[in-house]
Amino acid sequence: MRCPRCGNGRLFRGWFRMAGRCDACGFSYEREPGFFLGSIYFNYGLTSLITAILYPALHFGWGLPNGPVMAACATFAVLFPIWFFRYARALWLGFDEWVDPRDDPRQRAGGGGRTE
Ligand SMILES: [Zn+2]
Repeated sequence: MRCPRCGNGRLFRGWFRMAGRCDACGFSYEREPGFFLGSIYFNYGLTSLITAILYPALHFGWGLPNGPVMAACATFAVLFPIWFFRYARALWLGFDEWVDPRDDPRQRAGGGGRTE
């Protein structure tokens, strides 16, 4: 939940409101418009994985009836991504910076696209 570059600046100003850039080093969090669409990979992927394990474990493993297990899994599939939203964005930002670090100061300042 901190800046992937310096580790000091907070990513979020509220529960869903993200800071534009790091308070400590000026690192722009949004690399390009729509950048955080990629965080859905983490959010949807983890939600699907947990639900795909949870339902068979509760229904077939523990023998719980289908109705309540379906209701519990559906509720989980709605609430978990809302709670995980911030962590998914932080993971996506950290992953992106790890795979393709931005060394260009113009990009760090949010000055535009890639120069490669
Ligand atoms: Zn920073």
